[in-house]
This record gives sequence, structure tokens and C-alpha cells, in this order.
Amino acid sequence: MARTALAVDGGPPLRRRAYPDWPEPGPDDLDRVQAVLTSQDWGGSASVVASFEQLFAQYHDAAHGVAVSSGTMALELVMHALEIGLGDEVIVPAHSFVATATAVSRVGATPVFVDIEADTYNLDPVRVAEAVSPSTKAILAVHFGGVVADMDRLQGIAEQHDVDLLEDAAHAHGAEWHGTRAGGLGLAAAFSFQNSKAMTAGEGGILTTSDERLAAKARSITNAGRLPGRGWFEHFELGTNLRMTGLQAAILAGQLERLQDQILLRRRRFQRFQRRLQSVQGIELQRTPRGASTQTRYIVPGRIDPRMFGTTRDQFVQAVQAEGVPVRSFYPHPLYSNPVFQGRPHRVLTCAVAEGACLDSFWLPMRLFMGTDEDAADAARAIEKVHAWHKPAQGPTNGSP
Ligand SMILES: *Cc1c(COP(=O)(O)O)cnc(C)c1O
Repeated sequence: MARTALAVDGGPPLRRRAYPDWPEPGPDDLDRVQAVLTSQDWGGSASVVASFEQLFAQYHDAAHGVAVSSGTMALELVMHALEIGLGDEVIVPAHSFVATATAVSRVGATPVFVDIEADTYNLDPVRVAEAVSPSTKAILAVHFGGVVADMDRLQGIAEQHDVDLLEDAAHAHGAEWHGTRAGGLGLAAAFSFQNSKAMTAGEGGILTTSDERLAAKARSITNAGRLPGRGWFEHFELGTNLRMTGLQAAILAGQLERLQDQILLRRRRFQRFQRRLQSVQGIELQRTPRGASTQTRYIVPGRIDPRMFGTTRDQFVQAVQAEGVPVRSFYPHPLYSNPVFQGRPHRVLTCAVAEGACLDSFWLPMRLFMGTDEDAADAARAIEKVHAWHKPAQGPTNGSP
């Protein structure tokens, strides 16, 4: 059978068209922003901020939302509002964006880095149970790529040890666990609206919780320590200014309206992509546990078994990229290897899976699954093409059953 050479070896790339851009403005975004611009309230007290907080929280099965300037600030706000600080430990996964761990450090507490599960890329509950100490105050679970962490088992551990279960839901707008959305699964959650996230206003974040006192405290901290109904120059908490602007909230209100359709689109595209790849030996995509009833496929991580697939992870990434599909290598190192944690209080448990993922894992961006079926199929075709060139000879060629 004649085969075209791989693009990485000088052959023609399988695909030359770009994948859909992100972020993607909505049809009425300009009107929404215009409405804020022509009001005299562009800042945090714009009515669109409060209405967005309500809509977002309600959609995410939480009673309250406190909109802030970034996901990083939402995480730090969770820590402040819970009065987590010096001497306290918070369990975090060894792989995440750095803010998951620095939010803990920045309030003076100690991040405890725990291994992930090889197949879901989420916190491993077995390792979490081993990591709990008398100083543990909270478990901060990341829902990697939009597949919710095992909240049943994590909640069980949290209850057993009387610690709080918190969510870093920066990847998980609209994701569900047994039908309840991220943001309503722990005591509090932090979402990000940074430029690359599945809902974005360029920057932004929100804390969600159903705990009324926690919400009130978070809101006060966000707003210079003020309290509702009290004076502008009366300050009750050691607050700061984390307020989201009306301009951000206007854009996010439009994004929220489109989120559900975008999730369904990604899920449909991803399902076919995944089915197609089932016949390719040596590539394994993130497993979806049964509880993760809605997965948002914000990022799809996966791993290459070089013996079975025929290339190393790095060769795979290079070759698939050359075919015109924007796959990327996984994190280059676990969070705790970043210089910021040297000489700073932290604890690391054995993280063999997290270390291994740096070498054998990759991720696919959501843009692959936001175009046509053919766009998603091209991603699968590129992977099949690379595999076809490299796959190791298959066992005995005759006499096999
Ligand atoms: C993006 C992200 C954050 C931080 O959000 P920003 O809005 O960029 O500050 C935190 N945690 C995770 C897992 C993220 O992906």
C-alpha cells in the first residue's frame, strides 16, 4: 500500500487548515459591552456583575458566587475566607497550574503535593488518604481537563478527617459529578475566566459556595472589607480589591449562555475521535470515571506507550504537530520541582505517576473538538498516520489464531 511520507520527514501535512480560534466572540457581545460603556458604572458594582454571579452560581449548583479578577485570586480568596494560614496544610495534586499550590503558599500555609491517578490525571484518593496529617485543613481537587476528580472518595476522606474539600474548577465550567456540577461539589470552588479557559473575559474568576457565611466573608474580602448596608468607608475584614469589572461580567454573561452548546459539541466530537482511536495501539486517552457524568473536554490528556505505539512521546508530538494538529507535551515537571518551592514550606509525597506523566503524556486542546466532525477526524487521522509509519511489527504474521 502506497503511503505518503510523514510531514515531519518532509511529506505533505495531512492538514493545512487552522483549527477554530479561541476565544470566540459571541454575536451579541458588542451590545453587552456597549450597555456597560454607556452606563456610568463600569466597575464592580455594575448590576451585570451581580446578575452574572447569580446565574453562574445557580448553573453550577451553588447558592453563591463572588466574581473576582482572576482564577488565581479566586483560589487565594478561598484560602483567606477559610482562614487557612501558617501551620496549616492543604493537599494539592502534583500536576496543575502553579496557582493551585501558590494560593496555599501565599497565605502562609503548606502545600502538600500528592500523586495523580495514571488514567484520570486527577488526585489519587489513595494517596490523599496517606497524605492527611493533623495539620491538614483542606483537600484542593483539580478537575483536570474538565473530568471531575473522584469526589465520592475525596469527600469520604474529607469527612473522615474533618477537613474541607475544595475545588479548583478552572478546567471544569459545566462539568458534572453524578449530575451535580463542579462548583457545587465541595465547600467552595474557584473558577478561572482567563483567555484560554472554556469561558473567558480575557481575565477573571469566581468563587462559588453554598455556605452563606463563607460567601459573605469572601465578598467582604473582595470588596475592601466592606459589609452590605454599611458605609463605603467602613471596613470590617482585612480585605483587598479583587472585584470583577462590569465589562468582564458583560462578556461572561454571553459566554455562559453559549457554554452548554459548546460542551455538547465538544463531547460529540470527542466521542467519535475517541472511538476511532480505540483501534490504535499504544495511545491511551484520559479515562472518564462513571461519576463524571458530564466531561467538558477542555483539555484532553493522554499517554503514549512507546513500545506499542512505536514512537516516544516527543516524537509523537513533533510528528502529529507537523501533520497540522496542535497536540502538546504534558507539563515538563511536577509543580513541586518549580524553583518557587525551594526553601519554601511544602511537603512532597512519592509522585511516581506524576513524574512519569512528564515523560509519556501529551494533551489535546479543546479547539480540536470545536469545529466540524472532519476537523476532529483529522486529528485522529494524523495520529493514525504517525502510528502506521512507526508501529512495531505485529507478532507472528502467520499461524496466529
Ligand atoms: C488557569 C488556572 C488557574 C488560574 O487561573 P487564572 O485566571 O489564570 O489566574 C488555576 N488553576 C488551574 C488548574 C488553571 O488551569
